[in-house]
Amino acid sequence: MLLIDDAVHIVIAASSDAETDAAPRADGTTPQAGAPGSLLLSTTVRSAPGVTAADAAALAGDDAIVRLDASGCVVTPGLVNAHHHLLQSAFRTLPGTRGVPMHVWLPTMAAAYARVGIDPELARASALVGVAEGLLNGVTTVADHHLTWPAGSDSVGIARATAAAARELGGRLAFVRGSARDDPEEAAASADAIAEALVPDARGGITDDGLLQLAVGPAGVHSDSEATFRLLGEVAARRGLRRRTQANEQVDVAIALEKYGKRPIRLLEEWGWLDDDVTLAHLCAVTDEEIALLAERGVTATHAPGCDLPMGWGIAPVAALRAAGIPVGLGTSGGGSNDAGHLLADARLAMQVAPLAGPPIDARSILSMATEGSAAGLGRPELGHLRVGAAADLCVWDVSGVADAGVADPVAGLLWGSPGRRPKHVVVAGRVVVRDYELVDHDQRALAAGLTTLLAARRAS
Ligand SMILES: [Zn+2]
Repeated sequence: MLLIDDAVHIVIAASSDAETDAAPRADGTTPQAGAPGSLLLSTTVRSAPGVTAADAAALAGDDAIVRLDASGCVVTPGLVNAHHHLLQSAFRTLPGTRGVPMHVWLPTMAAAYARVGIDPELARASALVGVAEGLLNGVTTVADHHLTWPAGSDSVGIARATAAAARELGGRLAFVRGSARDDPEEAAASADAIAEALVPDARGGITDDGLLQLAVGPAGVHSDSEATFRLLGEVAARRGLRRRTQANEQVDVAIALEKYGKRPIRLLEEWGWLDDDVTLAHLCAVTDEEIALLAERGVTATHAPGCDLPMGWGIAPVAALRAAGIPVGLGTSGGGSNDAGHLLADARLAMQVAPLAGPPIDARSILSMATEGSAAGLGRPELGHLRVGAAADLCVWDVSGVADAGVADPVAGLLWGSPGRRPKHVVVAGRVVVRDYELVDHDQRALAAGLTTLLAARRAS
């Protein structure tokens, strides 16, 4: 059992950080949520916060208590990256992919994929890098929307290799069997085969230990047909999987209007894809009527400003989405547009650009998007907070250095201060996976070298 000890401040849930919703102490008093203190974890959060040595001993029973020093630190729930493309970690800053329209970006990326070859070995090397990068930056759960399935590729092998990489590193993965112009029947058969191989009996597509989740998701109405949406939707319904897609990037709206004479949200409605098991990423160009419809249907959203801004797609009206009652999560998207899987950096960006797309959004609200908001879109109420019984995923952020000196509010400071901030310790499912800024069981340089070597060998051949 793990005792997170002596923190300056513990964020139990970013959405209610200022309120008292913490568990009662052993002596019957209720500590202030966010008060300085300690947390006791096993695979769940057992007591939070303000657990005393006596509480810890009583709760741990015969278990040994391992102490993780959090003095000078703020503790937050683990970050949930709701939208990534892990494979693109192998294709960052490619010439010809920055500042170009989508019709140039797509074939440039496709040519790079074809040159290297997409298979389980590359999926594994990319996922090791992408998941490790996420963990080192405080991302305890990542949703990998995998869109690249060359004809004849070993799709089960690719999914299996990605899932195994995340599991080896100790991170949580939501693998999304995507599609980008795939044959509809093949995409659906592949999604079904992946479900059978990875999560055969799992309720909601989530393994018993909660470390792996499977979902499905076409890239968007701009690339996939009604048949793909329908057939992947049928697999999701049969298997109890969540559905995800991308909508209302500038290009998505333009292509939908040109091809169908309708906007993407209307098409998704007609195709049965506006429901409470669906999460839509991007949503840059949505109208008030569309926002009202999404809210009415219980659709959730993912904001990905670190992709949308450089691609020139605009800024999602996050405040309006939230005001309509739509849970909004945060994602980085992948290395083809956003070359970092650093969700806290993108949380900072989301906060900074919010006033250009509506009213400003405060730091705690943005942090709640990067935790509870993303978890809501994955249908994972146990993630994104540290209430008693939550999955024990958290980050310990050292705020004792000069970059945080003079900061009046340590939680706001997490986002406003120290760009590029990384957590000192990261815990997933009660297990320390990052300690003192390094992976516990892996050498990040070896993971990076593994990918670099593989790419060099394939480009040379
Ligand atoms: Zn994306």
